[in-house]
Amino acid sequence: VEAGKSALRLTSPYSIETRRKWLEDIRDALRANKEEVGRILCMEHGKPLKEAQGEVDYAAGFFDYCSKHIQALDAHTIPEKPKDCTWTVHYRPVGVTGLITPWNFPIGMIAKKLSAALAAGCPSVIKPASETPLTMIALFALMDKHVDLPDGMVNLVMGKASVIGKVLCESPDVPMLSFTGSTEVGRKLILDTADQVKKLALELGGNAPFIVFEDADFEASVMGAISGIFAATGQTCIAGSRLLVQKSIHDKFVNRLVEVAKDANIGDPMSLETHVGPVTTRPQYEKIMEYIDIAIKEKATCVLGGKAYKGPGSKGNQFIEPTIFTGVNNQMRIAQEEVFGPILSVIPFNDEEEAIKIGNDIDFGLAAGVWTNDIGRALRMSEKLRAGTIWVNTYRAVSFTSPFGGYKRSGEGRESGKEAIKEFLQVKSVWIAQETTTANPFVMR
Ligand code: ADP
Repeated sequence: VEAGKSALRLTSPYSIETRRKWLEDIRDALRANKEEVGRILCMEHGKPLKEAQGEVDYAAGFFDYCSKHIQALDAHTIPEKPKDCTWTVHYRPVGVTGLITPWNFPIGMIAKKLSAALAAGCPSVIKPASETPLTMIALFALMDKHVDLPDGMVNLVMGKASVIGKVLCESPDVPMLSFTGSTEVGRKLILDTADQVKKLALELGGNAPFIVFEDADFEASVMGAISGIFAATGQTCIAGSRLLVQKSIHDKFVNRLVEVAKDANIGDPMSLETHVGPVTTRPQYEKIMEYIDIAIKEKATCVLGGKAYKGPGSKGNQFIEPTIFTGVNNQMRIAQEEVFGPILSVIPFNDEEEAIKIGNDIDFGLAAGVWTNDIGRALRMSEKLRAGTIWVNTYRAVSFTSPFGGYKRSGEGRESGKEAIKEFLQVKSVWIAQETTTANPFVMR
C-alpha cells in the first residue's frame, strides 16, 4: 500500500499517452508470450491448453480495449454555461486500489481489473487466489521486463487471504477494492469496508438459467448448453447450471445432451484432445461431490455421470464425470446454490411466464441464456430476466466492450467496457463563476 501511494498521482495524473503506452505494452507482452503463459495457466489450473491460451488472448484484449478507450477520460468542459459558470468535469484516479482475484480465470480476471485501474491511473495492490499464483507471477515478470511502469504502480502480495484482505479493507489509503469471488467473501468485504464507505466493485456468484423453448434451433441450443456447463469443468460464475427446457422437447433434449456429453474426452488438460480437465482444487472437488450426494438425497435423477472419473491418468487427480440431473425442481439446493462444477440441473417448464418465474426465482443475477426463434419472445425474455448479461441464441460469448456484472447477490459494479474504467475513477465537477453575486443568500443559486 505504501509503495502504491508513492506511485499515486492524484492532482496531476499520468498523461493519457503514458497510460496508453503501459496498456499497449502489457497487451503486446501477453500476446508475444501467449504460449508460455497459457502453459503455466494450464498446468496450475487444469483447464485444457487451448482454453488456457485462449484466456491469455482474452486477457490481452482488455489491455487493448482500455488503450483504445482511454481518451474518454479527458476532462471536458460543457459548452453551455449553467448559472453563468464555466463548468468542467474531471476524471481522477480513485487512489490505490486493492484487486483480489479468484482461481478460475487466473489471467482473465486480473486483466479485467488491472487494465481498467491502469487506464484510470490507479496504482494497485494485487492479491491472487492462493491456488493459482503462478500465472500472476508470470504476468508480473512480463510487466517487469517489458513495461515501463513507475515503481509502486503494480504490487503483488501473496499470502493468507484473511490477513491481506484485512489490510486492504482497513487501510484508509486504499479507497477502493475490486473483487471477484464468492458472494460470501463479497459480503464480508462490504461489512469490513462499511465504516470507511469504500468504493467496491464486486463480481460474485451465480447459478444462471439457460432457457430453451421448443421453437429454438435444437442442435445449436444443445451445443450451447454443453458449453454453458461443461467448459472449464463448470468452474465459471456464468455457468448455465440450471437448464430450463420446455416440456414438449424435454425428453428429446435430454437424450441428445447425454449423447454429446458422454463422448467428452476427460483427461490431461495439456492434451489438445481433452474437452474436460480436472477440477482445480481438492476442496472444490469435495464440494462438488457433496452436491452430487445432496441432489440424489433430494430425489433428483442422475442420467449421466454423478461420480469421479476413473480413466487413464485419473489416479490421485480430481476428475468428475460430466453430470446431468433431471427431475430437478428450483427449490433444491443444486438449483439455488452455486455448485461451480460440471453438474447440470434440468428443470422442465410449460410456458414463457413459468420460465421467467423459475429463472428469476433465485438470489443471484449474473447471467441468463434464452434460446428461441421468436423475436418477440426473445425481447420479452431479455426484458424480464433479472441478470446483468442476457445471451439470446448464444452463450458464454465474451467481449471487451460489453459491461459485465450482476444483479442481486451476484454483485455490484461492472467490468469490461467503459463502465469498467469508471469504477476506478472519481468524478469531480468544477464550477467557476464568471461574476460574483450578492443575490439573496437564502435561496439556492
Ligand atoms: P472462490 O470460491 O472463487 O475461491 P473466494 O471468494 O473464496 O472465491 O476467493 C476469491 C478471492 O478472494 C481469492 O483470492 C481468495 O484468496 C480471496 N479471499 C478469500 N477470503 C478473503 C477475505 N476474507 N478477504 C479478502 N480476500 C479474501
